[in-house]
Amino acid sequence: MKIICIGRNYADHAKEMNSPVPKEPIFFMKPDTALLRESEFYLPDFTKDLQHEIELVIKISKVGKNIAPEFASGYYNEIGLGIDFTARDIQKHCKENGLPWEKAKAFDNSAIISASFLQKADLNLSNIEFSLTNNNTEVQKGNSKDMLFNFDQLISHISRYITLKVGDLIYTGTPEGVASVKIGDKLQGYIGNQSMFEVKIL
Ligand code: MG
Repeated sequence: MKIICIGRNYADHAKEMNSPVPKEPIFFMKPDTALLRESEFYLPDFTKDLQHEIELVIKISKVGKNIAPEFASGYYNEIGLGIDFTARDIQKHCKENGLPWEKAKAFDNSAIISASFLQKADLNLSNIEFSLTNNNTEVQKGNSKDMLFNFDQLISHISRYITLKVGDLIYTGTPEGVASVKIGDKLQGYIGNQSMFEVKIL
């Protein structure tokens, strides 16, 4: 399986990054070795500014290529929640030097994923509230209605370039409020009031 992540899909996050709002979806990838389903995350020693990005995650349920937006809903049944961990200091260096982002985004355990996913049929896809707390204080809050490109548009766009396969995950972008984590932090992700994951930073 592969992991595809969307960048700057919420205008308020693009603003906090001092980046322009994109005219089409921006995407990058993480390898399967980035996935972390466990509840402990060991802070890597190569960054001094590891930041959380809470994101809704689409799980692809059918192989597809060149999927039209009006048919995209047939290619996923479940929505989960994850964190796109980002070594912001390394990403900044990459951006400034025109380099790829993998060192900042694709490292081991950089993709937290909820153990369970919610059925699409049980959700109002254009109004999914989600949030992240750190040590029981809310640090990020988002709603799918604020996405610049919705789930179907993302699937359609990505599949023009890359064949989507069963089990692939699409991290759909983070709302504003990204911030650094430190050893001892406890991150908890929610869709609505439902707890989706809890991760301790060690
Ligand atoms: Mg992200």
